Amino acid sequence: MKALIFDIDGVLVDVSKSYRIAIKKTVEFFSGKEVSLERIQEYKNKGGLNNDWDCSEAILKDRDVVVEKQKIIDKFNEYYLGKNKDDPDALIKKEAWLLDISLLEQLTPIYAVGIMTGRPQIDADLALQVSNTGKYFGTVIVLEDVEKGKPDPEGLLLCLEKMGCNEGWYFGDTPDDMRAAKAAGLVAVGVFPPQDKSELLRSLLVDAGADYVIGSINEIQEVLQ
Ligand SMILES: [Mg+2]
Repeated sequence: MKALIFDIDGVLVDVSKSYRIAIKKTVEFFSGKEVSLERIQEYKNKGGLNNDWDCSEAILKDRDVVVEKQKIIDKFNEYYLGKNKDDPDALIKKEAWLLDISLLEQLTPIYAVGIMTGRPQIDADLALQVSNTGKYFGTVIVLEDVEKGKPDPEGLLLCLEKMGCNEGWYFGDTPDDMRAAKAAGLVAVGVFPPQDKSELLRSLLVDAGADYVIGSINEIQEVLQ
């Protein structure tokens, strides 16, 4: 069987109203100054940041604001996961699942289907629980499973090993996803996230090694075979 491996954020889940806003609020909380969503996208495009805690920290450092990493993580999680599990303002509640379930059901008998994400375990589990899609993904590799994040291929190679596959596709929305896919010997498919379908992002994905760029994950069949 060939492997279909998915990134979560921007590919399977629309995080434009969750993680992206959590970065914005965290940076603004510690720096006291506004940061635009466009500026945050620039940091994501630049790459080299394993997760959105690192992204928040990088923006703060560039503003000469140095905050202990754990404080950034705690504040970020307060916005993202909420102050408690019933917090109506928790940004995670604003996430939407993107991949059609009927499409997923057509793919799972034919391919080994897995996830490789920079999300911590708890956030990955929540995305699969809320969308009730956990049963479709045989292998899920998260932040805690690897020493080196994307663009290092460690997570994708581990995913392939656990799936018992040696070829397939990786679907991601950032240049680092494309670099990781190529380094792991996979077909690299750039997927436009809901908030950015720009020619700039297309060219960044292609420059990073994308073999294809598709408009959304629901166009997946265009690149299979
Ligand atoms: Mg992503």
